Amino acid sequence: MRLRDSRTGEPAALEPGPDGTIGIYACGPTVYGRIHVGNARPFVVFGLMKRYLEWRGQRVTLVENITDINDKIYAAAAKAGVRSDDLARDMAAAYIADTERLGIGRPDHEPRASETVPEIVALIGELIDSDHAYEADGDVNFAVRSFPRYGDLSGQRPDELRAGARVEPGEHKRDPVDFALWKAAKPEEDTAWPSPWGEGRPGWHIECSAMAEKLLGRRFAVHGGGRDLIFPHHENEIAQSVAAGRPFASVWAHNGMLRLSGAKMSKSEGNIDLLADALDRWGAETFLMFLLQAHYASPIDYDDAALERARSACATLRNRLRAGSGTDEGLRDAVIAALDDDFRTPEALALLFTAPPEARDTVAEVLEVLGLGGLAHDEPPPPDVVALAEERRAARARRDFAESDRIRDELAGRGWEVRDAGDGYQLYPRDG
Ligand SMILES: [Zn+2]
Repeated sequence: MRLRDSRTGEPAALEPGPDGTIGIYACGPTVYGRIHVGNARPFVVFGLMKRYLEWRGQRVTLVENITDINDKIYAAAAKAGVRSDDLARDMAAAYIADTERLGIGRPDHEPRASETVPEIVALIGELIDSDHAYEADGDVNFAVRSFPRYGDLSGQRPDELRAGARVEPGEHKRDPVDFALWKAAKPEEDTAWPSPWGEGRPGWHIECSAMAEKLLGRRFAVHGGGRDLIFPHHENEIAQSVAAGRPFASVWAHNGMLRLSGAKMSKSEGNIDLLADALDRWGAETFLMFLLQAHYASPIDYDDAALERARSACATLRNRLRAGSGTDEGLRDAVIAALDDDFRTPEALALLFTAPPEARDTVAEVLEVLGLGGLAHDEPPPPDVVALAEERRAARARRDFAESDRIRDELAGRGWEVRDAGDGYQLYPRDG
């Protein structure tokens, strides 16, 4: 499998490590609130890449961290009047519960920053010893200009950054472009960890450098995350880890953003749609179909029309899978060709939509890999739909055809088609 490397713009093969395993690290959420639909995209993209590679016989270790020490958590906890570690623990549990509903499994490891502090402290110590970082009044900062390759991923070079950078009050940076590895404890923060530089807590970027190395080693195949993390987060991760002598990630892969009404979704901007609400409304299959109908690296507009189209697409496939049987090696090879080439899920899905009934079992197999295996099984109609269908049967029995037709239309409005069969009926999800 090859992915387009964000650093070079070129396709790059995923190389397994010495133990034959492909290591993938994808940045997970900062847990200061329920996750929104935008946070679900990297979870889905990298989770399904793992499923796909495993289906192809490849061993994979997928790591997705949970950032549970962060300025945003302190701020949200203070606003809510709760302890920051309690808020982080509750929101981490909510994140796991919300993403569990997607039904695509979980990463192999979901490390938390708060459980990785000794490794973080050790890595910072190495950077100080090699003059890539310096202590200043309880803070430790990374000296960006000590790393000549800074900017290779994002194109943001120190000289250009310097124009817009400024040192905030209370910071002790030698150069405004330097960034924090460790922050001295502040009176308003209710958690702190010991370190050689005094009580404090790690910066966000060093958390990921340390968690990736702890679970995947010093070199691993893929580092992923949302495009919005390229700068500064991923640029800074590279600077820290490579300056400390690690090869770090071989390929960088970034998913595009979800746009709500044309604007990037972001909790801080208040444009939110919680994943839990989206799943209540649309269900996991429709939501996954919505994501997979776009290439992972493309932005997607998140709106009702797009979700409606995804719902119809699910119904079309579900109805198609009711008939036929058999496998089709040609279809399977074509799907593999699409997914091996930068995980082009829209092309893979298009192949499934046009597959003949004789390829039914191959279609079902591929859908299972993509987290859509439920489409191969009949979705039970919800109880209110069954109740309506029963009312309609009673109306037909007493030859009240006006009422029977009215209920048929009402069922259609709810997305169900009723087909009469003898004295009874069958319910099918409507497509189109
Ligand atoms: Zn990260």
